[in-house]
Amino acid sequence: MSCIFCKIAAKEVKSSVVGETERFIVIKDINPQAPTHLLIMPKEHFSSLVECNDGSLLGGMLETAKAVAKDLGVDERGFRLIINTKEEGGQTVFHLHMHLLAGRALAGKMG
Ligand code: AMP
Ligand code: ZN
Repeated sequence: MSCIFCKIAAKEVKSSVVGETERFIVIKDINPQAPTHLLIMPKEHFSSLVECNDGSLLGGMLETAKAVAKDLGVDERGFRLIINTKEEGGQTVFHLHMHLLAGRALAGKMG
């Protein structure tokens, strides 16, 4: 297995884990673009959003993001979710993940 996020999900590579469920792991981004910058990823490997046809898993990823935002107390002020998809979408790690950005005004910027 060569995927860095699979290794993180399997705890073979250290990361800053902020939460975990049966299907998802939530970690701090190593190169934060906002005061809060988390990555929400399924433990199961999908190389991008396009390869994932599991609607329940995709819905669960949004529910997880919402729950995390609430836990962090940013659900009132707001936050931004981003799924960069494939090369032209700016994806650099090819294991499906969602960015959660919060803690500063993000309006007008695309992440
Ligand atoms: P993307 O460009 O959407 O594929 O996002 C990949 C994100 O993963 C980037 O924001 C990186 O900073 C982050 N990243 C890469 N390697 C790690 C790692 N080992 N631990 C935490 N975040 C990482
Ligand atoms: Zn993977």
